Amino acid sequence: MTEGGPLDNMLAQMEQAREYVDIDDGIFERLKSPERTLTVSLPVRMDDGSVEVFEGYRCQFDSARGPFKGGIRFHPTVSKEEVAALAGWMTWKTALVDLPFGGAKGGIVCQPKELSEREIEQLTRRYTEGIRRMIGPEIDIPAPDMNTDERTMAWIMDTYSMYQGYAVPEVVTGKPPEIGGTAGRVEATGRGVAVVTEETFEYLGTDLDGADVAIQGFGNVGSVTARLLDERGANVVAVSDVTGALYDPDGLDVQAVSAHVADNGGRLEGYDAEEYVTNDDLLTLDVDALIPAAIEDVVTVDVAERLQADVVVEAANGPTTFDAAAVLRERGVPVVPDILANAGGVIVSYLEWVQNSQQYSWELEEVNRDLEDRLTSAFDEMLAAYERKGIPDLRTAAYTIALERTAEAHEYRGLFP
Ligand code: GLU
Repeated sequence: MTEGGPLDNMLAQMEQAREYVDIDDGIFERLKSPERTLTVSLPVRMDDGSVEVFEGYRCQFDSARGPFKGGIRFHPTVSKEEVAALAGWMTWKTALVDLPFGGAKGGIVCQPKELSEREIEQLTRRYTEGIRRMIGPEIDIPAPDMNTDERTMAWIMDTYSMYQGYAVPEVVTGKPPEIGGTAGRVEATGRGVAVVTEETFEYLGTDLDGADVAIQGFGNVGSVTARLLDERGANVVAVSDVTGALYDPDGLDVQAVSAHVADNGGRLEGYDAEEYVTNDDLLTLDVDALIPAAIEDVVTVDVAERLQADVVVEAANGPTTFDAAAVLRERGVPVVPDILANAGGVIVSYLEWVQNSQQYSWELEEVNRDLEDRLTSAFDEMLAAYERKGIPDLRTAAYTIALERTAEAHEYRGLFP
């Protein structure tokens, strides 16, 4: 039992699912630790002329099913353990939605809000140089994550391409469309969360039209989720960011909130809302669905005991601790796991990578249809496993599928040498 951090949570989730799948002991041992993690030291010339040294990581967790795949985040809480947990979750996510990828994650310990654009570019390029020997279109393909975006991916693509001597768009996904990005990638994670939320409501027999939803986090994922759920008739009653939460029991004007954020340096602060509440209040609101879309470990045991939502849909990676999940299970609150709910991003990353390898591009409708098909199939498979095997919760059901697929790949490939 643990509330010991993302890596402990991820390992505990694996152990729990293991009881319901038949996996060889040797293979399970292999699945518990990453194949490799590189730590890089990143000196950057700051705007005032001084030199600051940052630390970055790239963790490659498992590649039995294909090239490593996963985002890069810039955040003060990044650590070697955190990227390992996130790389593990990428491995289970790509396996669950059946993409021919393994899992990886990278990050730089920094506070991007305190850096200038030039400093962020230098940091990104230096990091790319640091990890360039371990990435590549057939090896490991980075993508955006917290505080990284199309701009960051363009710098990574450019730096990698400079060393190669020719343009290599397929080394990263989430690029601007002008240099090989796909239609629909920026919105993909939020769109996936909306699709999975709709499926969940259908499964629970609740009407999404008029349902109250609270969303923690208003970054790329939270804001797109809010907009799409609003469009599908839900009442988005609360949203939040680091500056606090806005609450309106009658439903927020999501368009007006988004416009305010766009004009206000990406912050919710200063929006003229009905009520302001804390992030903790938001997590325990009496709503039909709670969607944590920010960081790990926000639904703790304490929050889980007070939580009033009818269902939790995990848009962030690892928002519910292992012990909190046990409390929610006991209280009969279903949790739709991150490895399904937020898989829309990596699905569309896969579609971008495929388009790049074919030097071809698809229309937005085609991308969105593919995204929706893959997510609904994975949702149905998760439910079938949950109902067939007498498994305690949805996450464990999802893990049994992911672990089984990854273990089978290891079984066929055997043990080198
Ligand atoms: N960072 C996203 C995630 O956590 C997307 C990863 C990708 O597209 O490779 O799933």
